[in-house]
Amino acid sequence: MRALLVEDDEMIGSSLSQALEGAGWSVDWVRDGALAQSALADGGYTCALLDLGLPRQDGAEVLRRARERGDATPVLVLTARGSLDDRVLVLDLGADDYLLKPFEFRELLARMRAIVRRRDGAAHSVIGNTALQLDLTTREVLVDGQREALTQREFALLHALLERPGAILSREQLENRIYGWGEEVTSNAVDVLIHGMRRKLGPDAIRNVRGLGWRVPSR
Ligand code: CA
Repeated sequence: MRALLVEDDEMIGSSLSQALEGAGWSVDWVRDGALAQSALADGGYTCALLDLGLPRQDGAEVLRRARERGDATPVLVLTARGSLDDRVLVLDLGADDYLLKPFEFRELLARMRAIVRRRDGAAHSVIGNTALQLDLTTREVLVDGQREALTQREFALLHALLERPGAILSREQLENRIYGWGEEVTSNAVDVLIHGMRRKLGPDAIRNVRGLGWRVPSR
């Protein structure tokens, strides 16, 4: 799962991105509103964490423009501005939730899971098809009733595919979901990852569509 972190405070930004990576997220951290805007436009984020007071473009403006473009990325606003007007404003601009600074990291993770679940259209934290169910809370996959643990990258890949069973995702789309910026991605990284996962999930769990990409069966 890939998160965009928009935070101009170096201390908060670096501790948050480290903690998120420790919790299994792939994180892209940007420090101003204009960069946040272009990162969101590139797409591929499971969710975004957005500070409001930012250089170059205010967080509220980033959010307003993203929603105007039809960008549906789940957004959690992290703010020290706790007035009623501020809270109403960010929700009305299209934030999925907000969290007042300072906050507990566990609560941040829980709120991130909640907004991602809502976007997935599921009231519970399991998504999948008949053969495979992915538990977004424990990050395990259920294969024929057996729970299997997944690595961070395996989880990110399966999450992307199981959000829309049947849809074909290209190599580039999968790479965007699995790897953060600046990560070295070899040309066959996705193939190697999927090859390893087929041993865990069964040979037909993830299917290759020649020249186009990969998909999981729709049911
Ligand atoms: Ca700030």
